[in-house]
Amino acid sequence: MLEPSQIQGVREIRVGRFRIRALRDARFALDGGAMFGVVPRTLWQRLTPVNEDHTIPLATTPFLIEDDRHRVVLEPGLGLRWEEKARRMFHIDHGDGHEIGASLAALGVEPETVTHCLMSHLHWDHAGGACGADGEPLFPRAEYWAPASEIHAALHPDHLRRASYREEDVQPLLDHDLLGGFQGEAEPVPGIRMIELGGHSDGVSLILVEDGGQTACFWADVVPTRNHVHLPFIMAYDMNAALSHQVREAWIPRAVEENWTCLLYHDPLFPMVKFVQDGKRYTFEPIYA
Ligand SMILES: [Zn+2]
Repeated sequence: MLEPSQIQGVREIRVGRFRIRALRDARFALDGGAMFGVVPRTLWQRLTPVNEDHTIPLATTPFLIEDDRHRVVLEPGLGLRWEEKARRMFHIDHGDGHEIGASLAALGVEPETVTHCLMSHLHWDHAGGACGADGEPLFPRAEYWAPASEIHAALHPDHLRRASYREEDVQPLLDHDLLGGFQGEAEPVPGIRMIELGGHSDGVSLILVEDGGQTACFWADVVPTRNHVHLPFIMAYDMNAALSHQVREAWIPRAVEENWTCLLYHDPLFPMVKFVQDGKRYTFEPIYA
């Protein structure tokens, strides 16, 4: 089992004209059983460290994608607006300069210069950082994009969805007229496509970065960590597990066949990996510099 102190994979790659960098945001933890769904603990506990309260360590890793005209953030992170109780329950730890704002500052990137913020879906661990500590949009000049179905779910959650969304992550973006919804597919920047699929949530999307015959794919919660590549490893959090399975069966083999760079939001060690096939099983290979 790999421990965090061991060597980690690359955090920067190029895809055609795009430079893609993994940002730092937060460490947190969710129940290991919920993260692995029907997979028995005897199997998943071999793949990850387990905390005393049965949670497993996870990351939130936003990505910065740039060409000479666009500065795009994929997923704004967990955000800073958390009560003590939630911080404790989810082991939320922004570390030293690890939240997205500090991570961008360390790269010399001012929030005002971000042109686009793309959100795969609007669960709190993905959209919590859309607004800063003051509740105002973190990227005041950016176009924020999200699936329209997710905007609806965040503003009008039913009983099943209520625990996963926070209105305050979304409403300020609408008040400032910064948030646009899409249905099906959108291309906010030439070469960067959002593809709405559903399964995990109503509108969870993959984000594809394509240029010069190369592809990187941001998997959001379709494949949250490197240990979720194997097709049956679907989270108990998923709203529609049958649809999740269809989505994964359609897209994971494409990533293998076309040698995509896979960007993983929740993996605590490897934000960028390749998916590979090992017999009938899909798994991953780290990318090292
Ligand atoms: Zn998530």
